[in-house]
Amino acid sequence: MSDVKLDDIVSLCKRRGFIYQGSEIYGGLAGTWDYGPLGVALKRNIQNLWWKAFVEERDDMYGVDAAILMNKKVWEASGHTETFNDPAVECGNCGTRFREDHVDYTKPCPVCGKKDTYRQAYQFNLMFKTHVGAVTTDENLSYLRPETAQGMFTNYKNVLDSFYPDLPFGLAQQGKAFRNEISPRDFVFRSREFEQMEVEYFVNPNNWEEAFEKWRGDIHEFLKNLGLPEEKVHELEVPEEDRAHYSKRTIDFEFDYPHGKAELLGLAYRTNFDLMNIQNATGKGMEYRPKDGSDPFVPHVIEPSFGVERSLMAVLTAAYSEDEQNGEKRSYLKLPAHLAPVKVMVSPLLKNKPELVEKAREVYKMLKKEFGAVMWDDNGNIGKRYRRQDEIGTPYCVTIDFDTLEDNTVTVRNRDTTDQDRTPVDNLNALLNV
Ligand code: ATP
Repeated sequence: MSDVKLDDIVSLCKRRGFIYQGSEIYGGLAGTWDYGPLGVALKRNIQNLWWKAFVEERDDMYGVDAAILMNKKVWEASGHTETFNDPAVECGNCGTRFREDHVDYTKPCPVCGKKDTYRQAYQFNLMFKTHVGAVTTDENLSYLRPETAQGMFTNYKNVLDSFYPDLPFGLAQQGKAFRNEISPRDFVFRSREFEQMEVEYFVNPNNWEEAFEKWRGDIHEFLKNLGLPEEKVHELEVPEEDRAHYSKRTIDFEFDYPHGKAELLGLAYRTNFDLMNIQNATGKGMEYRPKDGSDPFVPHVIEPSFGVERSLMAVLTAAYSEDEQNGEKRSYLKLPAHLAPVKVMVSPLLKNKPELVEKAREVYKMLKKEFGAVMWDDNGNIGKRYRRQDEIGTPYCVTIDFDTLEDNTVTVRNRDTTDQDRTPVDNLNALLNV
């Protein structure tokens, strides 16, 4: 369990423009969230870091971006229409539905307070249904994808034919997934619309263990780059009876969230289950022909599956800090500089001195050109400005004062130490380029 409170994170996110409740102005829509300017920036930084680590910096990975709407046969072949269910129960008094594994039958309904009102459990399919085209018959039924994975399996053959990669190779994708969760909860942790970052890594079945171990290490490395302390990340070796029937091994990577230890991402050995399903359903060969002329085979798959929201929540939890400055409580986000939504804030010491404002604008423009994510703030006194930036995790603040006009140096204030050092303007790009 983390000692950070969920309420502190939720209220910071709303107050400072990271995350708002979806459709809030109309009373909200449960399980949906909207990202504000800083939330978008943080989310993008996490996704870009992932893409860089798992696609751009490697030569065995291929990116794809498949359509969210897919032919319903995809979900029939993958087993989702039959089995992508959660057992649900309904309170017979107020009609509220709960995930059965979240219900304590010995206690009253948490919504209406009546006891012994739960009705018999039933299976609830989590896929959102829709229709494609003008007619709403079963023929043109489709689903919003509940995972990005199938968009990669359905493109395995395309990429194989276009690029003829050596095995092992992987497909990577980031994008939206939708699940009609029975009880969305814990902020963005369990949402109905969320984003995944997934890899399907195709291997020779003889080498799956080696590839699995390599991914395990790569995942830990990535989590370190997210700024997550090692002692808050836990591996759960999922026992056979809890694994999907096709999985020969699964590790859930858990994190100490404010609401408790819970799944951040999964790493699974999915055998050749998905490619065989496609082969059987379409009659099209999914075999890989080794370049050395040895016998063709259907590759097996290692799947690391990350959730963007759960990564972001872990990043915020790890970064949320409190201390005391000049006898006052301060809350700040100790984000790694490469993830911070704003890299540096620039401000003139006084906003009613045109010569300071002009010089500050010049420095602001120079930094904005270099870093992009630079904020201008001349609102309120300098102490208040620093506090606002601390709260959103800006690593550095640059202040232009009267000395700047004399010697072209500025004050650079460090978020974590609150130390202030004077630096020549000409050194700023190099100093802040971390
Ligand atoms: P859980 O057991 O918590 O429902 P899961 O095992 O069903 O999760 P997977 O199907 O393995 O999750 O999905 C891969 C990843 O996608 C998860 O590790 C998580 O990061 C993310 N994810 C899944 N469901 C949600 C959700 N409802 N909201 C946010 N992220 C999710």
